[in-house]
Amino acid sequence: MDQKEELSVAEKLKKELILEPQNSGIEMGDEEISAAMAFCADYKAFLDAAKTEREAVNYTIKLLEENGYRRFDPSQCYKPGDRVYVNNRGKSILFAAVGRRPLDEGTRIIASHIDSPRIDLKPRPLYEEAQLAMFKTHYYGGIRKYQWVAMPLALHGIMVRGDGSSLEVSIGESPEDPVFCINDLLPHLSKSQNQRKLHEGIKGEELNVLVGAMPFKDDKVSEKVKLNIMRLLNEKYGIVEKDFLSAELMLVPAHKAQDVGFDRSMIGAYGHDDRVCAYTSLMASLDTPEPEYTWINILADKEEVGSDGNTGLSSTFLEYFVMDLAGGQGVSGREALRNSVCLSADVSAAFDPTFPEVNEKKNCAYLSYGACVMKYSGHGGKSSTSDASAELMGQIRRLFDNNNIQWQIAELGKVDHGGGGTVAKFIANLGVDVVDIGVPVLSMHAPFEVVSKLDVYSAYRAFALFLQETAKA
Ligand code: MN
Ligand code: MN
Repeated sequence: MDQKEELSVAEKLKKELILEPQNSGIEMGDEEISAAMAFCADYKAFLDAAKTEREAVNYTIKLLEENGYRRFDPSQCYKPGDRVYVNNRGKSILFAAVGRRPLDEGTRIIASHIDSPRIDLKPRPLYEEAQLAMFKTHYYGGIRKYQWVAMPLALHGIMVRGDGSSLEVSIGESPEDPVFCINDLLPHLSKSQNQRKLHEGIKGEELNVLVGAMPFKDDKVSEKVKLNIMRLLNEKYGIVEKDFLSAELMLVPAHKAQDVGFDRSMIGAYGHDDRVCAYTSLMASLDTPEPEYTWINILADKEEVGSDGNTGLSSTFLEYFVMDLAGGQGVSGREALRNSVCLSADVSAAFDPTFPEVNEKKNCAYLSYGACVMKYSGHGGKSSTSDASAELMGQIRRLFDNNNIQWQIAELGKVDHGGGGTVAKFIANLGVDVVDIGVPVLSMHAPFEVVSKLDVYSAYRAFALFLQETAKA
């Protein structure tokens, strides 16, 4: 008999009764690890192709149409296996596959967001000072401003011209494109700036973008660099300065997604929060065309600024879709919502050994230990959150454990050390059972965020399983 396999009484009891620490080992097999690596190659391509919510919507619609999804028509009665999508103003999208069971038995919802923190242009951005052409900006979402200076930035967005025609902008992504940047002081002259608190090291009104330095060859007009920039923009794109008034233009990091580490176990990129959940849930959805329960996948806008506005999840977007779909089938939409379960799919903070003081080590997410489930988010005594019930946590736990999903439980940081929210509470307000789940991220909201490939794949598997579920577990 092999001595090593015989457990002592204490060891046996420990195995039966004690919950292992979060970071107690990877349970994935070699095959699953290889699958995770392959899956993430496509995820990187998505990150590079979809740096804004509009680009993510375009990418998604193309895939959906290739997979037989059609524009939703509220006057239709949809049958099991029908696949539809609703494009909400090009900035958020909802898509669904109709299940075999009637809608009022409930749906399976996954909600993630496709907007990420970035730097928006002001309505009148262009100015000239000291023979330099610059853009004034107003940042979007929770950024640490000092992280966005002295690095290449790309300009994305849309401009609507005076005649109503529109121009899609993406400059700084091709190798032959120019890029833009926000300048910082040199260390030699930063003595006084160094005295500032870190959060105001770079102030909001100092996020000015360098866009030109070549004067127009004419000494009779002032602001010759600005004039030269407008001449170039007019020749190339047919725009005049007034067109900036009707535009949504934003600066995002120009770099591409890249493997991180000698072992290539991680991906560094702009916008993992929350395109990592958007992509994984999109792939899980495409794998589940004929579900038992109707599933609905929402890629929302405006999460980073509080979910307000008609493309955010505090709007009626989801609620009215369910009502319309139910109306077509002659069942109660309210009943459908009451019986629905939702995964609020968003990232969480990964433990960073350089900054251990912000996390409570027994209740935080670790990189490479799987999809992280958050029972609640919020801040200061569980304020402003949807706290998932014990019953729902029980369902999710059984579902994942019975299907070998690598997962961990997490809180976002120590009690009273800050916090954050997700779209969970807005969907819970509709009477839906909601729990947060996502992928742990290092340097969240920075221009270069890091995730683990194993966690990305665990999230994908968790989402697919949830959509394929044959009964409310
Ligand atoms: Mn997020
Ligand atoms: Mn965020």
